[in-house]
Amino acid sequence: MEPVRDILEKIIGQLASPEWLKNVLKVKWRQIVGDQLAKRTQVYQVKNGVVTVIANSPAIASELQYRKDDLKRRIKETAYFEPSDIRIRIGVVKSEESVRAQRIEQELSRLVLSPREHALIEQTVAPIQDPLLREKVAKVFEQFLRLNQWKRKHGFKECPRCKALYRGPRLYCPVCQIELRKRIVRN
Ligand SMILES: [Zn+2]
Repeated sequence: MEPVRDILEKIIGQLASPEWLKNVLKVKWRQIVGDQLAKRTQVYQVKNGVVTVIANSPAIASELQYRKDDLKRRIKETAYFEPSDIRIRIGVVKSEESVRAQRIEQELSRLVLSPREHALIEQTVAPIQDPLLREKVAKVFEQFLRLNQWKRKHGFKECPRCKALYRGPRLYCPVCQIELRKRIVRN
């Protein structure tokens, strides 16, 4: 088995990636903003800790603007990530995307972690002294394992270099592809 520290580093690396945060927010968006707003808004991107949200009308944009602090708090509680800011743009909200996110959310909640996965979580968080932090890391880890399980079920494969899960015909994940390309250019 891999040393716990290595596993933790890998998870933290993935959890800090903007792509991962965007996916988590998309899947949990309905929980964060509620049914009504979820139909009229969409997460557009996460960049340098700033979450950009699309609103489908000026009225909805100002409602989001008004609820910004509440939104930040909800994101922190639900996705265990604290945005440095939330930016709101007016644009087209793709309804098929929110339907898809909702389906993923339901599938995720039905997934059951294996005893091995539960043991891995416990083993990983055991050295953490602070009980609140320990609980938080355990929850984030559980979320991570659920999404990984879901991705495997839906045909994602593991990158041989960084162990991230990705889809597509290539040998490495998009992040490693870019890094490897840079390395080739440098040498
Ligand atoms: Zn990779």
